[in-house]
Amino acid sequence: MLERWRERDVFAESLRRREGSEPWGFYEGPPTANGPPGSHHVLARVFKDIFPRYKTMRGYYVPRKGGWDCHGLPVELAVEEELGFASKSDIESFGIAEFNACCRESVLSFVDDWNRLTERIGFWLDLEHAYRTLDPDYIESVWWALKSIYDNGLLYEKLKVVPYCPRDQVTLSSHELGQPDVYQEVLDPSVYVRLPVREPRPALQPGDELLIWTTTPWTLVSNAAVAVDEELPYVRARAEGGTVFVLAAALVERVLGEGAEVLEMFPGRELVGTRYEPPFDFIPASAYGEKGHTVLPADFVTAEDGTGLVHTAIAFGEDDFRLGEQQGLNVINPVRLDGTYDERIGPYAGRNVKDADPDLIEDLRGRGRLLRAETYLHSYPHCWRCGTPLLYYAKPSWYIATSRLKDRLLAANETVTWYPDHVKHGRFGKWLEGNVDWALSRERYWGTPLPVWRCDSGHVRAIGSLSELRELSGVALSDPHRPFVDEVSFTCEECGGPMLRVPEVIDVWFDSGSMPFAQYHAPFENRELFEQRFPAEFICEALDQTRGWFYSLLAVATLLFDRAPYRNVLCLGLILDEQGHKMSKSLGNTVEPWEVIDRFGADAFRWYFFTSKQPWDGYRFSLETIGEAVRQFLLQLWNTYGFYVLYANANGIAPEALSDAGERSELDRWALSRLHATVEVVRERLDDFDATIAGRTIQTFVEELSNWYVRRSRRRFWDGDPAAFATLRECLLTVAKLLAPFCPFLADEIYDNLDGSEPSVHLCDFPVPGERDEQLEEAMAVARETVRLGLAARGQAAVKVRQPLRAAVVVATGDERAAIERFEGVVREELNVRELRFVSQADELGQLEVKPNYRTLGPRFGKEMPLVAAAVAALEPVRVGEALRNGRTVAIAVAGHDHELGDDDLLVSMKPLEGYQVEREGSHAVALELEIDVELQVEGWAREIVHAVQAARRDAGLDVSDRIALTLSGDEDLVGAARAYQDYIAGETLATSVSYESLDGSEPVRIDGRELRVGVALA
Ligand SMILES: [Zn+2]
Ligand SMILES: [Zn+2]
Repeated sequence: MLERWRERDVFAESLRRREGSEPWGFYEGPPTANGPPGSHHVLARVFKDIFPRYKTMRGYYVPRKGGWDCHGLPVELAVEEELGFASKSDIESFGIAEFNACCRESVLSFVDDWNRLTERIGFWLDLEHAYRTLDPDYIESVWWALKSIYDNGLLYEKLKVVPYCPRDQVTLSSHELGQPDVYQEVLDPSVYVRLPVREPRPALQPGDELLIWTTTPWTLVSNAAVAVDEELPYVRARAEGGTVFVLAAALVERVLGEGAEVLEMFPGRELVGTRYEPPFDFIPASAYGEKGHTVLPADFVTAEDGTGLVHTAIAFGEDDFRLGEQQGLNVINPVRLDGTYDERIGPYAGRNVKDADPDLIEDLRGRGRLLRAETYLHSYPHCWRCGTPLLYYAKPSWYIATSRLKDRLLAANETVTWYPDHVKHGRFGKWLEGNVDWALSRERYWGTPLPVWRCDSGHVRAIGSLSELRELSGVALSDPHRPFVDEVSFTCEECGGPMLRVPEVIDVWFDSGSMPFAQYHAPFENRELFEQRFPAEFICEALDQTRGWFYSLLAVATLLFDRAPYRNVLCLGLILDEQGHKMSKSLGNTVEPWEVIDRFGADAFRWYFFTSKQPWDGYRFSLETIGEAVRQFLLQLWNTYGFYVLYANANGIAPEALSDAGERSELDRWALSRLHATVEVVRERLDDFDATIAGRTIQTFVEELSNWYVRRSRRRFWDGDPAAFATLRECLLTVAKLLAPFCPFLADEIYDNLDGSEPSVHLCDFPVPGERDEQLEEAMAVARETVRLGLAARGQAAVKVRQPLRAAVVVATGDERAAIERFEGVVREELNVRELRFVSQADELGQLEVKPNYRTLGPRFGKEMPLVAAAVAALEPVRVGEALRNGRTVAIAVAGHDHELGDDDLLVSMKPLEGYQVEREGSHAVALELEIDVELQVEGWAREIVHAVQAARRDAGLDVSDRIALTLSGDEDLVGAARAYQDYIAGETLATSVSYESLDGSEPVRIDGRELRVGVALA
């Protein structure tokens, strides 16, 4: 089929035919091709495929440009691992140009695998003209965007405390902190540290010690101040041992134990200005400024944990940093970018800060500055890439002031329809509500370089295009990546000094968020193309992209165009294994996409994803569950189609002959009406991006077509009735078109063979619903329900369907009875009963019986229970049934007392009439008369004989249309039955002659314990 699509150029043709029609925009969220695609990628790709296919068939022009996300730290990390690098310095000595060349190669190394899978699963995407975020054109568009943002005053550099990974030497953005597994429960040290006061304020005495608490001892070397709340009550308290400590009143017992004696209580403001001895002497108080190593008032102090006196290290906490700004303290950061102390920290210089914790604690203990050291279990953020605990760390970084656009972002979100809709004001809306400025810069190598140049005097210039840079510097960059772009400099317009690029590259999410325009190199080229396809009608990715691509697209579009870049967003859930565990290579529970495709085919894979769940609910996934999808639907459709082909060929039916097929039967009209109903629902559901219900609706129709229409019409197909062929053909062809966006391969196979007037089903228009006969549909539904109950009754009584029975008694009145009577012949035949009778009440199908419920009445009546049982037995069952049905109680008298019995107290059951089997559900019920007299017995045998002959035909390898000479011998009664029903048997088995000669030697079949030998020969 892929070969045929290529040959007939179907995808391109489907676009060409819609050129000039209304465009329907789709954006491909670019994957990174530095690893092979997995099953979750198939999930995203089939949902990205179905709606563009559908919209194309509905008449829209739906271009689908592919794309690749090429930059970013994961790519760098993979290359680092391959090259055996341990840190950034290894990259520098290897050479940035060489390193980036490796990244470039790595990022496209699996593109062929991706393309092969994309084609095989039938995802139509323009891979030939795919955009790549590493291309100079793409980067230039991103530069244009950044310069616009800079010109609007929204791009700025600022020293901030940021979550920082010292292993990768990068800052994590807030959306990266939102990745799963970032917060992990860890045991950290918990230390209480003593700070003797130096110049006691009035509230304090010489010798008093402030108590502080921290879980990051490594920050104590740069303690700058202690923070208190001015209103909170603090105390001087004498601990056992005599030392007087200062801490929050509420925490005395918790920190010092029950034996501590409170000496004085006072508000925190009386502590402000107190000088103290710092925990370590490496950095003098003067380095922080006038207020170094003093007590300062702050708004973030509580008495919930610690001591109520908060250790403040300006460079290592957001609150600390803010307090430093307010109080005019200098930012001192003695930790290098690689997470080790610098030379200021004397003996610890060069050591990883976290590793130094135990030695620092021992150091404090040795100097009598430690009150207590414990461990503390808490949730702490880790790098989502490498698992290193993050440091909160003051660093200059570039930011985009998205928080200033919060209202615009929220307004843009209001224009978007989310699937499922709770994402809009839930996960995504809340994320926007809490918006913080976008930490844009990364101190890395393989990424879009931040297009900002600066001179020694601090003048800044943002560059918005390669030509602008060329005009200023005279350098025409063919590759704008590092290190080449770093070498380009020009003269500062303000001071005449040389301007050099800042070293950072940007967050990759800004790359992919720029794809609406950058994929077309807009605004430099294709401006109209971009405008035509902006915003996208539809995008689709995993739910976790609310903090990734969904956000970066919205943020970039709001920054530049003040509107949402998409109208409809479909979110996909996780793929778990059968037990509900996350799939991962290390657990060995992944299902490789090729394994599924090789075993079941791409259509089955797609069908499973579309119909087993609403896609955002997530999947519990295994090869077996996909096999189930095949068995339940695809095989049924394939068999129905196969049936048509078989009999159309056998009868020499040509499609042209069906254009005037004559009068349609009631069953034909029913099938077509159901078909039209299906078309209605499928269109409506797909318009609402609901592939699940749309697909299940097709499945239900195919089930009806196969199990009812075809089965009920077999005889007409054998007889070559053109109306039956025309009806089934129309149904199958329409199903093929409905199914084309879901299962593009099977759909095209059926279409091509049954019609083929277009080169492919994918060039057809989507079916339009025709007229329905809803009365007919309803009547048939009632008749089918009657049959279902009747067959269930047969199952209960263990009477084969081939054995005719005298009568079925059906509970039905009014319209329902009329509906069943309309299809009386059908119902009788299906149930294999000679007669249908009607009653109006289920009660008439048997005798009601009422018994006491010992479980409720036993405890209530105890020893009187036998009397209760007797009283219940004396009740009139029909009355009881009626009373309970109407929610009333029933009164009994026991030993002279009246009691009320309710629904729970009485067990009402139906004892069927003697000789009947009853099946009931709700208000519907069917009873079968079970008595089998000789006449019915003989007819039953005749049907068994037909069954045996059919089996013999199959065993002999005969074609369905072959005529046979039939020979029967064996048990006298069976042969007698065959003679009595000879015409019937001959007709059913296409026998032109029936003879009754002995057939010794052949293997007999057994019918009701009697033997029969069957001989079939080609006539
Ligand atoms: Zn890391
Ligand atoms: Zn300058």
